[in-house]
Amino acid sequence: MSHPDSRNLWTETLYSTYGQSFRIDEILFEDKSEHQHLLIFRNEQFGRVMALDGIVQTTERDEFIYHEMLTHVPLITHGDAQRVLIIGGGDGGILREVCKHRNVTHITQVEIDRAVIDLARQYLPDHSNGAYDDARANIIIGDGFDFVQTTDERFDVIISDSTDPLGPGEVLFSKDFYAGCQRSLKPGGILVTQNGVPFMQTDELSNTAARLSRLFKDWSFYGAAVPTYIGGLMTFAWASDNPALRQTELSTLKQRWLARGITSRYYTPELHQASFALPQYLLDLLK
Ligand code: SAM
Repeated sequence: MSHPDSRNLWTETLYSTYGQSFRIDEILFEDKSEHQHLLIFRNEQFGRVMALDGIVQTTERDEFIYHEMLTHVPLITHGDAQRVLIIGGGDGGILREVCKHRNVTHITQVEIDRAVIDLARQYLPDHSNGAYDDARANIIIGDGFDFVQTTDERFDVIISDSTDPLGPGEVLFSKDFYAGCQRSLKPGGILVTQNGVPFMQTDELSNTAARLSRLFKDWSFYGAAVPTYIGGLMTFAWASDNPALRQTELSTLKQRWLARGITSRYYTPELHQASFALPQYLLDLLK
């Protein structure tokens, strides 16, 4: 249950030693699905908030930062992605941003918990903003881990928008999952994943680096500060078998971005390029 305290504050349970609290102005939904505890509430500062198993997934106020960076960085770098796979992403924010790319002709989204999709469509409608009705979207309810091991589809870009490596999301940080993604990519394909806040989740960064480096010719991380992913820089993992992709010139990124005519609130080509510049403490972690 959400367990608000006497001041009606709900505290995230991601860390036992540190956390953020939100005043609950209204509980909109709370229940357990077969996979996880689902909570959606309204908070004056962040609007509607979704938490799964006590961990903040997304809020109306800051979701654009994460969804724009996890989507446009790989798609603008690729330049001509037609087939995109989304793992997780039940709130629909990634699907919304992918649909803005008119050169994308086919999107498969594999989400383990239908309840997340249904609740997000009802209580966070601006996240998907109609994207679930886009003719290009093919929604599969299932485990993303199993999908990438068995699918005969191949993709230009794979975006893993998972929960943290706890509960159903844990398998999406495994070497076998990354190997499954590699087999599911077309030549020149790109994998990007949600990879946590390394100031707080240092093992997540070093574990992912160790696993990706054994599989892909090129791997790295890029970052963005997302207010409700507490603890500083939020990182995204990057992997591909074409090292030149990550070296794409700024002028090319700008030309592609302008050609797509997409309106953003966070993403810019300059920020895209700069986001791969990591602070020294993270570079030291990756040595
Ligand atoms: N942006 C959020 C973050 O960074 O924590 C994640 C948002 S999204 C709500 C995470 C989604 O991953 C959830 O809908 C959850 O049901 C889904 N998920 C977790 N484990 C999964 C798995 N093994 N296969 C597919 N989807 C999974």
